[in-house]
Amino acid sequence: MAFQDRELTCRDCGGSFVFTAGEQEFYASKGLQHDPVRCPSCRATRKMMRPEDRDESPNYGVFASWGGRTPRQLHVASCAQCGQLTEVPFVPRGDRPVYCSACYNEVRARQEAADQAAAVHAAARISSSSVSVALEGPGPAAEQRGEQEGTGGTADVPE
Ligand SMILES: [Zn+2]
Ligand SMILES: [Zn+2]
Repeated sequence: MAFQDRELTCRDCGGSFVFTAGEQEFYASKGLQHDPVRCPSCRATRKMMRPEDRDESPNYGVFASWGGRTPRQLHVASCAQCGQLTEVPFVPRGDRPVYCSACYNEVRARQEAADQAAAVHAAARISSSSVSVALEGPGPAAEQRGEQEGTGGTADVPE
């Protein structure tokens, strides 16, 4: 069952907004048959105007990511990676992607892994350059680097 992005008109502000495929999938997964009638910002505004709603158990699974403590001001945004609706405690800007908590952790883990891989790569380069130095005349510093090369040997990355 494939969803396609659709443009809808907000009932409150009359502006058009995109009901993305990801959001449609999210709605469908919640058993909601109808389309949203308001744009994300009007939905967030209405939510803030009814504080009693915030005490109810969350409708969106991603709410739980705030550890039960709901920040005062939330802005609805769709996750840049999975498209699922999430709420963030800052105004989403076009210049930086917004992720749901699951994707954020994923993205961050991937970033850390990439940083680590880059560090290993850099270390490998230092080690290989120290090998040529070692050929000319091994010194105490070269021996130390040699040890590092041994421990880093398992993280070989194929070029
Ligand atoms: Zn609106
Ligand atoms: Zn996501």
